[in-house]
Amino acid sequence: MRTTSLFVLMIFLSSFAFSENLYVDLYAEMDFTDQEIAFLKEKKKITMCIDPDWMPFEKIDKGRHIGMTAEYISILEQKIGTPIVLIPTTSWVQSLEFGKTRKCDIYSLAMATKERKVYMNFTRPYLSIPVVVATKMDKFFIAEISTLENEKLGVVRGYAIGEILREQYPQMNIVDVDSLHQGLEMVNQGELYGFIGTLVTVGYEFQRNFVGELKINGKFDEKWELGIATRNDEPLLLNIFEKSIASISEKQKQKILNQWLAIPYERAANFNDLWKWMIALLVILSLLLYRYSLLKKYNSQLEILSITDKLTQIYNRLKLDEILDQQEALYKRYQHVFSVMIIDIDFFKQVNDQFGHQIGDEVLIEFSRILKENIRTTDILGRWGGEEFMLISPKTNLNDVSVLAEKLRELIQNYSFSTIGMLTASFGLSERSDTKNASLIDLVSQADKSLYLAKDQGRNRVVKYN
Ligand code: GH3
Ligand code: MG
Ligand code: MG
Repeated sequence: MRTTSLFVLMIFLSSFAFSENLYVDLYAEMDFTDQEIAFLKEKKKITMCIDPDWMPFEKIDKGRHIGMTAEYISILEQKIGTPIVLIPTTSWVQSLEFGKTRKCDIYSLAMATKERKVYMNFTRPYLSIPVVVATKMDKFFIAEISTLENEKLGVVRGYAIGEILREQYPQMNIVDVDSLHQGLEMVNQGELYGFIGTLVTVGYEFQRNFVGELKINGKFDEKWELGIATRNDEPLLLNIFEKSIASISEKQKQKILNQWLAIPYERAANFNDLWKWMIALLVILSLLLYRYSLLKKYNSQLEILSITDKLTQIYNRLKLDEILDQQEALYKRYQHVFSVMIIDIDFFKQVNDQFGHQIGDEVLIEFSRILKENIRTTDILGRWGGEEFMLISPKTNLNDVSVLAEKLRELIQNYSFSTIGMLTASFGLSERSDTKNASLIDLVSQADKSLYLAKDQGRNRVVKYN
């Protein structure tokens, strides 16, 4: 329903747009005289020259007109109802030339000067910008412009301010330069004392290329009053633009000014560069992330290595000590009882002696595998040293752990090891308890003592510390 009505509305409007009526109505709104309307109909298009390098006011960027004046011109084009066509030029001097030879009917933004008035008319200004002098950082503030009479000052060739200042201050040593950038560069190199430009364009260039090197050091009383210039052999053009400019609201002007002073032009226009930067940033970021993930991986591998026994791949003594500390802390805080079991292979020296160290190693691997496969996941098994192992059983008392020890002892006794066959082991047990031990050291030495007791009593047995 909504789409249909929108469609009908569009047809209605477009038929209007192509009819003569809207054309005339538009002119009526602008208060154009019959003569002016007839002139525009006859003219069909208005040609325009701009300064191809005067940001943020204007610029020709890849054949396109951008900057503040581009916004103004598009508003004016609508008001006038006649296309305004850009005639590309490579310099402001060339644009001036094209005005003289009538290749362009208007300048988008220009200041009235005696010389220019010979061939152009000027509307009232729509931009009024302070004229400033930029110098190096170490120069004193210029309170009185007349004090600059002995100094070399740069101005862009063909710019109105050069003509005006030369007339106003005939003593002043004003030098033509090719561009704003070149002028500022010459100031920076010491070839010029200062550069004269508008607050807006000089400020714009400062932000980009001369941060911390140059400063705005003085202000002229004169302002750069900029309006549209129209060829003076077609005087109706002046009236038409005068009326159109007058109808641009202050709010619209402020909006355009804010927009172009706030957004650095490179960012708005050089989208390609932005993408390049973003891609470069992404590459750097992903490299950093990759490095970080590698580091993390290496670190966790290193951590595993640091707590694992190389031969048997169970925890090493370092990790056992850490777990003992943790259990001790839990015991102290929550009275969580835990037990310790030390397991020592009986007559292991004989295994080495009889079958060699290599086979001895294999027995140790097999032995720890049997233990690992027959304990609870909450029990922690590690190699205590040589042919001794330790099992830490959290939340397990002496009785429960001796049941487990007995089970393991029997399993080993009945297991036939590859190459060597039968083997036994002895078990020493102790539990953490306030009545039996005062510290971890006590606890472990009690398990050790029990183990020696088991050996003494004939091996292949479990002894608990009571
Ligand atoms: P007991 O019943 O009194 O424990 O006698 P045992 O022979 O097991 O005890 P002893 O402490 O005399 O000998 C332990 C042997 O364990 C000596 C050592 O060569 C051997 N051993 C320790 N670590 C390793 C190892 O990593 N690989 C091998 N193959 N043997 C080891
Ligand atoms: Mg031993
Ligand atoms: Mg032994």
